Amino acid sequence: MTCVLAIDIGGTKLAAALVDEAGSILRSATRPTPPADVMSVLAALIAEVLDGGPPPQAVGIGCAGPLDLATGTVSPVNMPSWRKFPLRDEVRKLTGLPTMLAGDAQCFALGEHWLGAGRGCSSLLGIVVSTGIGGGLVIDGAPLLGPTGNAGHVGHMSIDPYGERCECGGRGCVERYASGPNMVRWALENGWSPATAAEPRQAPALHASEPTVPGAQQPHLSGDGRAYDGSPAGVGVAGRNGGAGRDGSVERDGVVERDAALDRGSAAERDGTVGRGRTAEGDGIVGRDGATEGGGAVERDRTTEGDGAAVRRDRATEGDGIVERDRTAEGDGAAVRRDEVAERDGVVGRDGAVERTEVKVDARALARDAAEGHPVAVAAFERGARALAGMIASTAAAAEVTTVVIGGGVSAAGDILFDPLRRAFDDVAGLDFVRVVQVKQSTLGVRAGLAGAANLAWQAIRPSS
Ligand SMILES: [Zn+2]
Repeated sequence: MTCVLAIDIGGTKLAAALVDEAGSILRSATRPTPPADVMSVLAALIAEVLDGGPPPQAVGIGCAGPLDLATGTVSPVNMPSWRKFPLRDEVRKLTGLPTMLAGDAQCFALGEHWLGAGRGCSSLLGIVVSTGIGGGLVIDGAPLLGPTGNAGHVGHMSIDPYGERCECGGRGCVERYASGPNMVRWALENGWSPATAAEPRQAPALHASEPTVPGAQQPHLSGDGRAYDGSPAGVGVAGRNGGAGRDGSVERDGVVERDAALDRGSAAERDGTVGRGRTAEGDGIVGRDGATEGGGAVERDRTTEGDGAAVRRDRATEGDGIVERDRTAEGDGAAVRRDEVAERDGVVGRDGAVERTEVKVDARALARDAAEGHPVAVAAFERGARALAGMIASTAAAAEVTTVVIGGGVSAAGDILFDPLRRAFDDVAGLDFVRVVQVKQSTLGVRAGLAGAANLAWQAIRPSS
């Protein structure tokens, strides 16, 4: 039995698997990403997967970015203990094997091309729409990584040179319109507030393609084997959880996938959003603080828009990490006042209002309301979809990709995103070879990164794979 070792490194989870040439998982395991000393946990994880299994011939690693392929170093935004960490050399030393490294979104694209929605196509653009927007290109079957490994950063393609300033320093980036937090931000600014007070329901944010019956004998990265769901301990847990565990798995998948997707802060940033969001229930506290520190500004916000709206907007704004940008970019008094409130919300939250529960103001809630026809929620998805369509048409024109596969937490909205996306693409795309591009939803979900890492390793030793 020949196999490779695939490793998927994200801000919340480390995953490793032995994968054969057909994409079957021979052994797999996961560990939570520790706040420090990640390498020793990764080494233990690798040892666990290798123990008793067939010896792999090469290693493929997909890692959250940014990374530098020229030096083999990584500096994942969500893993502050790794800055210019020589991941490729460390794993090569540890295993004594040829070791390949690529970004997580690039591995997503490779995985979908190998075993997922893009199987069999010649050239593919993979897009991960989540807290940020990442991407990867597979051209004529091979990954296009670029000299430093940063090819495929489609989230920071400008679709409006006069558009809003992006966190990256650019202007009019797709991410500014179509990432989860930015769609939520825009919706809040335009009068949306989550309609329901329940904890997030599952529809419509689930992976329709996720298997519902675990436990088949031969786990496969494509999901055909139905056993590996990206959950801790991989195959084993999926089997043990059985049907009852699926809910949890799906929920977890959503989180994991969002995380895997990111260019920048996922878990931490999202937690921040939620945490602050929870505090916002303490309207009285927020209002009092506002009155103390921000004076009339807060009162005006509350008068004009009502407590709920003002507070929710603040959450989203700060959750994005764009508070400063908003001030600069928008420059109007209202924006500044909003942001000031937002910052205070954070303080209030840390002070202890965190226990309160309330509606999560996130892309999942936005998708749910869009599905129910809330006009602003619908418009937020249409706006994001249009930005994605412009980016996709531009990329297709430049690289003649034939298939586009979209994954990440926001893509789990399904038709809520894909219907307006296909309509917008039909409007935006002109040239025949662009118009025929197939836009598809990911079928691998959280497995795509591991599949791509495995494929990266296989390509290194058998370039025809
Ligand atoms: Zn940007």
